[in-house]
Amino acid sequence: METLRRRPPLPYETAMNKPIADHHPYALDLAAFRDLGRRTVDLAADCLEQLDSRPAVNVVPDDERRLLMGIALPDEGMQAHDMLAFLEQHVMPWPLPASHRRSYGWICSPSAPIAILADTIATTMNTGLDGYDHASLFLMQGLGRWFMELAGFPVDGNSLAVLFSGGSAANLNALTTALHSAARADGWNIREEGLQGSGRPPFTVYASEEVHSSVQKCCEQLGLGRRSLRIVPADDRFRLRPDALRALVESDRAAGMRPFCVVGVAGTTNVGAIDPLDAMADIAGEYGLWFHVDGAYGALGILDPAYADQYRGMERADTLTLDPHKWLHTPVDCGALLMRDRNAHREAFSLVPDYLSESGPDSAPWPSEHMFQLTYANRALKTWAAIGRLGRNGVVELVTRCNRLAAYLADRVERSPDLEMLAPCSLSVVNFRYVPTDEGMDDAALDALNRHISDAVAASGEAHMPTTKVRGRTALRACVLHYANTEEDMDHLVDLVRRLGREAVGR
Ligand SMILES: *Cc1c(COP(=O)(O)O)cnc(C)c1O
Repeated sequence: METLRRRPPLPYETAMNKPIADHHPYALDLAAFRDLGRRTVDLAADCLEQLDSRPAVNVVPDDERRLLMGIALPDEGMQAHDMLAFLEQHVMPWPLPASHRRSYGWICSPSAPIAILADTIATTMNTGLDGYDHASLFLMQGLGRWFMELAGFPVDGNSLAVLFSGGSAANLNALTTALHSAARADGWNIREEGLQGSGRPPFTVYASEEVHSSVQKCCEQLGLGRRSLRIVPADDRFRLRPDALRALVESDRAAGMRPFCVVGVAGTTNVGAIDPLDAMADIAGEYGLWFHVDGAYGALGILDPAYADQYRGMERADTLTLDPHKWLHTPVDCGALLMRDRNAHREAFSLVPDYLSESGPDSAPWPSEHMFQLTYANRALKTWAAIGRLGRNGVVELVTRCNRLAAYLADRVERSPDLEMLAPCSLSVVNFRYVPTDEGMDDAALDALNRHISDAVAASGEAHMPTTKVRGRTALRACVLHYANTEEDMDHLVDLVRRLGREAVGR
């Protein structure tokens, strides 16, 4: 006590009895805010304007890396204008190659301008989507119905769409709910007993060899172990083989396992294949399995009349993952999970402590009662903006156009003597490789050559197209998702790969 009393007052303590508003760095100075806001919009506008005229791939120079990673915490606060200048100089020049028109890597689209602005409003309002009674939550409820209508998912009083950080988180919610439902059906409660030493038959999940890595991560995270993910072989078009699924479920059951979920992929990440969803739904029904469809990338492909048939059965899913940050020009991050029976999710997740209240009968269902997270970002506004700006017809046009361009690219590849398709073109993904004529290269040499070409594409700054493996062979993988792409972009890509390929083999 003695030492406490003799401690000299800290500088801020002397000001404790004075109003703080006008000298605090966070204090709202409206004129300054408007001024900084205009500067920010100018920076953003410049960024958007220059996007496609800058190289597709911008590598952060070494001194910038060091500067950013070694940045010191300042003793005194920085000036707001200096902070914007810092971002302009040291951060904005080096984005990931995701928004460029000729960035065909991964599965990402640029942000719709209106979505960028709507997201600013969302962060300004700073209202999370966990629950309570507020406009953004109701908007999310309406937006959920948009997703269901677009994806052909049943809309009724029991269904619900919840926004997540992405497909991985949406898949984890689906698999968790599936697992808990299975235990409940067997007469026990995982939330109460947990999986440890349950002495019960091991739970198993089924998916094709082409399933996204996040599904394996889900099984690992749920404590089921990697071996609980039972891999079903795919056919020559990379689609799960229903006969093999049935056989594996049968033999696993006979061996004392407890199959509880089957995951169908509507648009595989690697090659865009669509699993035979209707046949899988039949098998799921027959064996009492939860039917989850992972359409993180491809669920919206159902809107393309040329592909709609292949989606038959998706409407029978218990849960459907769909990522607006992939095909819908929504700024990262945003994934959605469409839930057929929200009560199943509620049973798996709802836990309302004393210091929170529970959703009432008049409110929209609270996401926090159907998912792991409590407070979470208001992703509804930007997603609503990106979709609303297009309307249904615009979304159909976007998806169909990307698919047509991919087919056009595939056609150009097939007609080039020195290019070869490595998987059938499906949705907006094309996998191909450069094969110099008359060189007699084996697969290993072609793998190395195509990795080199992919690097050369990036170094040229003209496009971005990383490699993947298709049945063990290195492929140049182009995924078309940009609203502004044209046949000219596809021609450019073919010409670029052939030119860099010829240079690489010294012709
Ligand atoms: C991208 C993708 C995921 C993972 O989604 P994130 O948003 O990156 O978490 C899951 N499944 C499929 C089929 C995907 O393409």
